[in-house]
Amino acid sequence: GGWLGLLGGGQLGRMFCHAAQSLGYKVAVLDPADECPAGMVADLHIQAAYDDEAGLARLAQTCQAVTTEFENVPADSLRTLATRCRVSPAADAVAIVQDRIAEKTFIAAQGIPVAPHAAIRSEADLRAAPDALFPGILKVARLGYDGKGQARISTRDEALAAFAEFGGVACVLEALMPLDYEISVVLARGFDGASVVFPVARNVHRDGILAVSTAAPVQSDAAHAERQARATEAAQSIAQGLGYHGVLCVEFFVLKDGSLIVNEIAPRPHNSGHYTMNACVTSQFEQQARAMAGLPLGSTALLAPAVMLNILGDIWYESATATTQREPDWAAALAVPTAKLHLYGKHDARRGRKMGHITIVAPTLDEARSDAARVAAALGMQAPE
Ligand code: ATP
Ligand code: MG
Ligand code: MG
Repeated sequence: GGWLGLLGGGQLGRMFCHAAQSLGYKVAVLDPADECPAGMVADLHIQAAYDDEAGLARLAQTCQAVTTEFENVPADSLRTLATRCRVSPAADAVAIVQDRIAEKTFIAAQGIPVAPHAAIRSEADLRAAPDALFPGILKVARLGYDGKGQARISTRDEALAAFAEFGGVACVLEALMPLDYEISVVLARGFDGASVVFPVARNVHRDGILAVSTAAPVQSDAAHAERQARATEAAQSIAQGLGYHGVLCVEFFVLKDGSLIVNEIAPRPHNSGHYTMNACVTSQFEQQARAMAGLPLGSTALLAPAVMLNILGDIWYESATATTQREPDWAAALAVPTAKLHLYGKHDARRGRKMGHITIVAPTLDEARSDAARVAAALGMQAPE
């Protein structure tokens, strides 16, 4: 028992609270919102800005260890906390992954490929960017998520316009890559440096937002299995290189030619790892709590194939043009007995907002897929690919 602390009050924090509480811990959440998904279920909600001295002091006094559920917390807040209690991940690791320029530089220095890219700090940088980066994606270096702060551009002029639109903040311009598919690796690494890796998830995005994640036992397809092994190895070497403690996710692109590149790193549990809550011996959130508390990490074994569908606010609206909201028909979704529903307690169902997810766990991948299609139909969601 004891207290564990969390910077950030979103859904990742809420699911962390549930996992930590079932291990016998109390959780204190620091978040500025007066109502937030994690704050509602935490044992203590410290309502303060992420860089508020008094709030941070209270969090550190209350807790034996603190983590973050949000990659955009000021790294200096983690530094401040670390003078008073155990903090994972460390400020230095978070500082790297919260800046796309530092992140890509770090990954490439580990000998792991990333998309061809250029740091863009001025219009001059854009004018000097190699032709090979067009068509490309201009991404703000800091604070983007769910495809926000990104613009797909085909020409230098479009890139200049997008850069101005972003207010001239530091960006990365990366070449648009020929993706075959996307995968991610979630791992947990303890303070003793030992790590455990979850099964690779295969991910489908729509409009820059994760829509579907699938996890299944390693395929008999040799090329596919080999890619999964390479991704797992790359994720472990990234964690080691960062001196990382806690849960981390690495997103990868598998290109049309079969090569593997890293897209980005998240210094926390990840949406593509939500399937672990229902389909693995230990969930990613339980690993986060275990790692911070210095407990042994649990088995990451996959119990059965799983398909996770994200639930966005869109399904609260009857049509693309509707303006009034109504509650989705959860009973219809749960009529599929392999479906496990997780809602985050958010009240305002804005379009594109992550409201919950539903994981289908079935004896075979084919069954999981066809049940997922039934769940999607029941909720009026696009059929999973
Ligand atoms: P997240 O919510 O995962 O943090 P994000 O806003 O940081 O998202 P990215 O992961 O950079 O965004 O990109 C979102 C998605 O856009 C990717 O998963 C991929 O589908 C697509 N994408 C991003 N960069 C590229 C690229 N260079 N080439 C092709 N597709 C890309
Ligand atoms: Mg991101
Ligand atoms: Mg991403």
